[in-house]
Amino acid sequence: MSYQSDLYQQVILDHNKNPKNFREVDGHSHSCDGYNPLCGDKIKVEMKIADGLIEDVGFSGSGCAISKASASLMTVNIKGKTVDEARVMFDEFHKMVVGELDTKSAKHHLGRLTIFEGVREFPSRIKCASLAWHTLVCAIDKTGEATIE
Ligand code: ZN
Repeated sequence: MSYQSDLYQQVILDHNKNPKNFREVDGHSHSCDGYNPLCGDKIKVEMKIADGLIEDVGFSGSGCAISKASASLMTVNIKGKTVDEARVMFDEFHKMVVGELDTKSAKHHLGRLTIFEGVREFPSRIKCASLAWHTLVCAIDKTGEATIE
């Protein structure tokens, strides 16, 4: 086991056991229900957005350890960011997990989210890791429901 995969395991375990922002957001302005039929993950993202700034974000629902840990880390990393910054991070995260972005050589804004880079080795888990992000963008766009095919 490499250091990176040990760290990955530990972060997944920690966030699954003790997820951050695992709550409903009172008076939220945006929300979306995300569903990953491949694994059965269901995640609801609620946000309070004012003047293009994500003032608060929370998630609820049930899913596997990876989907929950990814949602938890996502909320920590996008809170206080602008909607445009969150979209850039979504794009980078997506490219990272499908193997189109090498976080060691390319410039990016992912910070600790690079922990999920290892997911690309497990194709069936890519959707678990990206569900929260698809649901986030859906909430920003107010499209109501997001199902990853
Ligand atoms: Zn899953």
